Formats: sequence, C-alpha cells, structure tokens
Amino acid sequence: MKIVIIGASHGGIAAAKSLCSLANDNEIFLIDRKPIHALGYISSGINLHFQEIIHELTEVTTDVQPLIDLGVKLMTEYEVTDIDPTNHQLILKKEQEEILFYDKLILAMGSSPTNIKILIDAENAFTYKGLEESQQVLDSLEKAQEVAIFGAGYIGLELANVLAKTGRKVHLVDNMPMILSRYFDTNMIEEVQQALATQGIYFYPNEFLIDYQKNNNQVEKICLLSKTITADTVIFPSQAQPNTEFLRDKVALNDDDTVVVDDYLQTSEPDIYAIGDIVPISYSETMHVFMPLVTRAVHMARAAALTLIGHPTSFDRKNKVSATKIMDYFLGSVGVTEEEAPFLDMNVQSVQAKICLTPTYVAQQKTAKVKLIYQKDTLEIIGAQLVSKEYLLQDLNLLSVLIHDKKTITELAVENFCFVPQFTPHFHYLNELALQVLQEDNRC
Ligand SMILES: Cc1cc2nc3c(=O)[nH]c(=O)nc-3n(C[C@H](O)[C@H](O)[C@H](O)COP(=O)(O)OP(=O)(O)OC[C@H]3O[C@@H](n4cnc5c(N)ncnc54)[C@H](O)[C@@H]3O)c2cc1C
Repeated sequence: MKIVIIGASHGGIAAAKSLCSLANDNEIFLIDRKPIHALGYISSGINLHFQEIIHELTEVTTDVQPLIDLGVKLMTEYEVTDIDPTNHQLILKKEQEEILFYDKLILAMGSSPTNIKILIDAENAFTYKGLEESQQVLDSLEKAQEVAIFGAGYIGLELANVLAKTGRKVHLVDNMPMILSRYFDTNMIEEVQQALATQGIYFYPNEFLIDYQKNNNQVEKICLLSKTITADTVIFPSQAQPNTEFLRDKVALNDDDTVVVDDYLQTSEPDIYAIGDIVPISYSETMHVFMPLVTRAVHMARAAALTLIGHPTSFDRKNKVSATKIMDYFLGSVGVTEEEAPFLDMNVQSVQAKICLTPTYVAQQKTAKVKLIYQKDTLEIIGAQLVSKEYLLQDLNLLSVLIHDKKTITELAVENFCFVPQFTPHFHYLNELALQVLQEDNRC
C-alpha cells in the first residue's frame, strides 16, 4: 500500500515511525515544504535555550535519517498545493508541479502563526513556531531588556517565566482576567498569578492592544486599553491557524478551518486521515476547539497508523491534557474546566482541596491543590487540575486515563491505589477527594 503523509513535523514523523515499526510492506512518502534540517522542531526551543538545557536551537529538531534508512521516501522543500480525493492524487511543487498518487493519505499539515503585521508592523514584533523564525526571535530576545508578550497561555507564560529568570523585565498581556484561562479555573490559578510580579513578570489582565509607537521600524511604546508600556521586543506567541487552505471543498472542514474527522481520524473522504493541530478537540458534532499540542499530534499519529495497518484504533478527541512548570509550581490540567463547562452545555460540579501527599508521620510534608470536575447527574469525572510545588506529572497522566475511561466519583473513591508507608497515606488523595464528594452530596 502506498501511504503518503503531508507534513513532516511531530505528527507526520510519528506517523511514519509508527507505520515503519508496525508493518514493513508499505511504501511511505513523507512530504514537507521545509528543508530537512528544520523538520520536527520543538517550538519551545527558545525556552530550553534560556534554561541552558540546549545551546543551539538546532538541537531540538528531529533527525529523520533513521526514517530514510527504514525506507521512508522523504520529500523536503515540496509544497502540496492541492489534492484530488476522487483520483487519489495530490499536486505538489518544488521547481515545477508534480503529481503523486496514494492509496491512503495522512494529512499532518499542522498550524502556522497568523500574520501579526496587521497588529504591529515592526522589525522587533514577532510570532514564531519553526526553527528559522525562532532563531530571529532568539537573536532579538538576547539583546532585549524589556519584553512585551501578548497572550498568557502556556507559550506566553513559559516564555515570560524563562525571560524573567534571566533578569529581563516582562510585560504579559491578556484579554482574559486570568492566566492559563483555557486550562485552569480562577480558584486554582490565582495564587500563581499573584506570585508573578515577585518574579519580575507584570501581568495585565483584561487588556487589549490599542495602538503603538515606533521609531526606525522598531516598536518603542505599546498603548493598551488602560496603560502604556515600553518594550524592545514584542512577542505574539499564541496566534495560530490550521494549515488547511488547499483542503477547502476537498474534505469537510469545521467553521474554524480545522478538519472534520471521526473517532478513527478518518476525514469525510474514506482514504484520507487527519492528525495533529488540524484536528480540533471535539466535545460534540458541533462543539470544537482548536488546540495545538504535541501530545495530541503524536498520539493521533500512532492511532491512525494502527488503523491503516488493519487494527482500527480510535482516538479520544475530547482528551486535552497539558502541564508546565512556572516558577516553583507544577501546573497540570486535563479535560474540561468548571468555568468553560456551561459554554459546552455541561452541568457540572466540582470538589477542590489542599491535600497532603505524604502520611502525617512523615516530617517533610508535601502538599498539592487539587480539583476534580464531574457531571452533576452521573458523577462522571470530566476534568481535573493540579497545582503543586511537587512534580505530579504521573498523577496528571493517571487522571487523564480515569477521564478517558469515564470513571465516576464513586468508582474513584474505591480505586485500588498502592499503599507504601514511607510515602503514602492509607488512601490516595484522589480516593479521599472522591469520598468527600459522596459525603457532601449525601449519595451514600
Ligand atoms: C512557540 C510555541 C511553543 C509550543 N510549545 C509547546 C509545548 O511545549 N508543548 C506542546 O505540546 N505543544 C507546544 N506547541 C504546539 C506544538 O508546536 C504543535 O501542537 C505541534 O507542532 C503540532 O504538530 P503537527 O505535526 O500537527 O504540526 P506542525 O508542527 O505545525 O507541522 C506541520 C508541518 O507540515 C508542513 N506543511 C504544512 N502545510 C504543508 C504543505 N501544504 N505542503 C508541505 N508541507 C506542509 C509544515 O512545514 C510543518 O513542518 C507550541 C507551539 C508554539 C508556536
């Protein structure tokens, strides 16, 4: 079978790798418009550089030579301009146009930053995702003393965090009242938000860019709704859109130009699959949210590969799990927040507590703030948030699985978690939190 993958980044590369490791009788083509040295770049490379985890941004691109050695036909610097689902062919262009046939097609074109020139047209205003733009942004940031970042989602906040640690003054602007508002409820994140200023991060909530002043094509002053700030580099980290222009009228798209897929990531065309950023989080047939995350891209890739080699494998299109470390805080979120639930027509309740991770007899007490969000009528858990100075990634992954498995609060109260006296109380804190719901709810 001839399988063609458009896009050789996190999703496309993971799909090719999975296909090669699962079956060896397919002919696999992997196409990207970028040059080979820039493929599969980790977009937060700048943060890793400032954290001194890497020196050069090129250290976090992906070496595709192992794929070539496995027989994958890599076509770089080729732009796909059109597809013809009826005839199973696509049109691509390097110096001239070529046609490539496929039996199965995987769309992994991801997303690109939007054109920020309409917001600020200046040499020191940037957005970035790939290696080349990131290098330009890094050059500007290395010289900058004062940086303005628009958007307090993960990307903006993580960048603010690393820049502040290097002594730079950081202005973080968002039109929402809280940081990370797509992932955390106010009562979980406010402590972290309040701590930002102590680290040199000045957060401006409910703010909008109104105007700016520039000199020699460099922004100097930025006028927000209620104040004016100065900056020598301005970053718009989170403005992105799915790369689906050539799919219009070829496969069904949602209103936001993401691709309509079923649980098996099949598009409206039977031999075409879509993975990665172009596939939204879907809460229902009509409720979609564009949510670029590497986690989603690589796991969709594996599911699609399994399906293509004859093991139909569904992917949980609702799953949204993300985490970061900001200042000393581990922040983890999975599923729906309590504040977004009403917009998704969900009737939810929540339980929240500051819990002790360690048994009472252990001298060094470790704590975490934990929240569970569940459906009011069925008690099915649909969201969870963790804020702690401990690294709780495994707990977050566990919560992600519980939510995927549609566990209820009642089931969680008796979930058989391990007891190790040096480290754990008799019951895991998630057991206890679930029991608290049942007690308060008078359901027993
Ligand atoms: C600054 C920044 C930091 C981020 N940090 C994180 C993070 O810490 N954790 C996380 O989970 N996510 C992070 N993300 C999001 C993450 O980068 C994306 O979710 C991820 O890149 C999606 O992978 P993908 O394979 O779907 O697509 P992409 O990485 O967008 O790649 C798509 C590929 O398709 C190619 N392509 C597109 N159209 C065509 C065409 N017509 N012809 C040929 N080739 C084409 C592109 O050149 C590109 O190589 C970050 C994003 C940004 C912008």
